[in-house]
Amino acid sequence: MTELASRLDDVAQRFDAAVDRANDEQALESVRVAYLGRNGEVTTVRRAIGTLAHNERPAAGKLINDAVAAMERRLQAAYEELESRSFDAELATSIDVTFPSIRRPAGSIHPVRRIIEESCAYFVRHGFAVVIGAEVEPDYYNFDALNIPNDHPAREGFDSFWISDTLLLRPHTSPMQIRTMQEHRPPIAIVAPGKCFRRDAVDARHLFQFHQVEGLLVAEGIHFAHLKGMLTGLCRELFGEQQNVRFRPSYFPFTEPSAEVDTTCPKCKGAGTLKSSPMGCNMCGGSGWIELGGAGMVHPNVLREVGYDPDRYSGWAFGFGVERLGLARYEVDDIRRFTKSDPGFLAQLS
Ligand SMILES: [Zn+2]
Repeated sequence: MTELASRLDDVAQRFDAAVDRANDEQALESVRVAYLGRNGEVTTVRRAIGTLAHNERPAAGKLINDAVAAMERRLQAAYEELESRSFDAELATSIDVTFPSIRRPAGSIHPVRRIIEESCAYFVRHGFAVVIGAEVEPDYYNFDALNIPNDHPAREGFDSFWISDTLLLRPHTSPMQIRTMQEHRPPIAIVAPGKCFRRDAVDARHLFQFHQVEGLLVAEGIHFAHLKGMLTGLCRELFGEQQNVRFRPSYFPFTEPSAEVDTTCPKCKGAGTLKSSPMGCNMCGGSGWIELGGAGMVHPNVLREVGYDPDRYSGWAFGFGVERLGLARYEVDDIRRFTKSDPGFLAQLS
């Protein structure tokens, strides 16, 4: 038994050395045949079991089986090692892994989408909810409920796409203000982004389909200073810390008082002139301000229409054109660029 064990040990050692020396698959196969094959060295050792006493045979058989299993594992590892080495060699000769790859152009968020997302994120941080509504709405939500009755001349200002006598593509996102106020009691704090439609002739400053971001805050004790504070914050979020906001008196049927909102021209920083064009900044026409949209205190008639008591509640609303914000933010000369999916233009702004 001891003799068999030492013979087995000797076979295993020579087997290991032979595997180490084998440097291709053919050599490994020869080693396998010589040691583990039908007439290999292990078989010779196994035959010696017959010379042992009966009670020693099971232990000897186990010893040999264990040795065979270890040798097979060793052989398998050697095969895998060879395979990986030959793959590396092939890679080194046939593929230049340092060769620069072909870059697929990556998409980016559209500037209009980005302004909407950043504006909404600003208001959400201040506790506002984002509401999204339908693009086709009855005239009640677009006009009547906003203090623009059927014969009101202000309807002319919203040159709209009518679907039927009472249905139209919304010319502003204000229907969402009415719908939200009808469904909830104050306090209300919402921001409503979305597509709007007006029958405007398309030129460098106008589109018939554009985006708005509207905001509405209604609660007790809300006043104009809150509006100015929030809009100043929004402009600083979108354009930078140097921004200021200016209100000019205006008229809208749904707000009283009403204001046009301007912000510091981001190009000339409010100076009105540029070193490159001393005649005047071409973005703001030399005024140092650019127009963003309308705002004001919600008209008491609008509050009454949704069942709020105007003596108890007050609120403000604003509506900005997103593409207009984009013109100023990205110093774009033509609003139509935002609708032409020109990858070069979009990549510049990404
Ligand atoms: Zn300017």
